[in-house]
Amino acid sequence: MTPKPVRRITGTQGSSLEPMSSQLVIYNSFSKQKEAFEPLQPGKVSMYICGLTVNYLMHVGHARCYVFWDAVDRYLRYLGFDVKHVSNITDISVDDNILKRLSETGESFQRLVTRHTQDYIEDRRRLGIADPYIYSIATQHIHEMIELIQQLLDQDHAYIADDGVYFRLSTYSKYGQLSGVNLVKLKTGASGRITEDEYDKEAVGDFALWKHASQGEPYWHSPWGPGRPGWHIECSAMSMKYLGETIDISGGGEDNIFPHHENSIAQSEAVTGKPYVRFWMHVRHLMLNGERMSKSTGNFITARDAVMKYSAAVVRLSLLSTHYRKQMDFTEKLLETAEGKIRQLQHAVAALKFFATNKTPPQPKDDMLSKAIRNIDAQFRIAMNDDFNTALAITQTLRFIESLHHHVDEYNLVGSKLARKGLSILRNIGMVIFGDLYEKEIAPLQDSVTHQLVEFILAERERLRQERDFSRADVLRKMLKKSGFEVIDTPNGPIWWRTALPQ
Ligand SMILES: [Zn+2]
Repeated sequence: MTPKPVRRITGTQGSSLEPMSSQLVIYNSFSKQKEAFEPLQPGKVSMYICGLTVNYLMHVGHARCYVFWDAVDRYLRYLGFDVKHVSNITDISVDDNILKRLSETGESFQRLVTRHTQDYIEDRRRLGIADPYIYSIATQHIHEMIELIQQLLDQDHAYIADDGVYFRLSTYSKYGQLSGVNLVKLKTGASGRITEDEYDKEAVGDFALWKHASQGEPYWHSPWGPGRPGWHIECSAMSMKYLGETIDISGGGEDNIFPHHENSIAQSEAVTGKPYVRFWMHVRHLMLNGERMSKSTGNFITARDAVMKYSAAVVRLSLLSTHYRKQMDFTEKLLETAEGKIRQLQHAVAALKFFATNKTPPQPKDDMLSKAIRNIDAQFRIAMNDDFNTALAITQTLRFIESLHHHVDEYNLVGSKLARKGLSILRNIGMVIFGDLYEKEIAPLQDSVTHQLVEFILAERERLRQERDFSRADVLRKMLKKSGFEVIDTPNGPIWWRTALPQ
């Protein structure tokens, strides 16, 4: 199977041409250009995303990546693609810090990674991220990794050294195309990252496929003795198992470009002779206090702490409010702005729900709103088709929300049929931006008992207001607010919505 060539859209860094509204265009980190996206098999997209090394809790920098990949997955489905999304969980990586922690706590390595695997999946779900088609767990695929290493050995792309098995880089001439890393410089030791692990290699750029276990390290059995696979071989073996030899989209954070993705390409293409990935995508770092958020420097906030402090929807909207290839700072101001935007959105959804359920006949001014509803659908697609520009998609959606609020303020009424249409389009957009949080935090479905209770309290409040007993009426509004219900008065009566689900 020969992959289809991809059509280049720009010849520069990918920002000079107008996006085509009807065609998804993706910036390919491999070609450094925007390219029109078409999957290898019509209608079906294969996607492999590098997941977490589960030695620690996920921080907000990781969350930026996974929230973005979730929006990509969901938008591809929005366009009608059948998406097969596989993401790995690295429960195999051991470093000195981990070994030190284990010896201090007495916890086994297996127990630590099992605990953090559960935490990782929980944290993703908290952020409204859908589970991928498959979470491929590294330790459950040792057999596939050993088979792939054996194929590399059989084809002379690998060799056995005293301390493990290595990929022989001299057999792969295209190395460096993704990262721009120059092998000549590597050989002179210019890259500390590669040379810091000095094993018994033939050449400096050669990287480990299998490492023999040192004393006290966890290990697995292999034809070459007890040890553990290298990190890079993990992703090649698992992506090939579930998605075949050529994947449509693969990516991770920008720090995955080198050496991880560069090495993954080398070992995969050496074995198959086919392109490994058609579209490479990489998410930029998240900054905190002016420095990159990173677990190694200790400059990070865990995703679960951020969600506890603000709310999952606020964190998620904040992370998508900057284009994924741009640097962004995680600041209080960013979160507060997102909070305000979410409130506007909740208000709009509640207003549309109010008109949708109140059997309002078509209104003379519905045409204007109808046009805005059609426009937002088109504008959302134009923004997302331009290399998944979530920042612009969110801005356009908020502009629509503003015009909706003006319309309601001005004309007071919206026909029920049109309100339902508006709700449906907002839901489609909201599911891409907020994922599973749309129905939990933005437009929660109310059970009928809750609905009746809130309506009862509001009717009582209205009665008190008509009797001009405003202070008691206000007590009821405050009581509802404390219980998580926002109330706004309109000329048609109060509109209310739930701002949070009970914990
Ligand atoms: Zn990977």
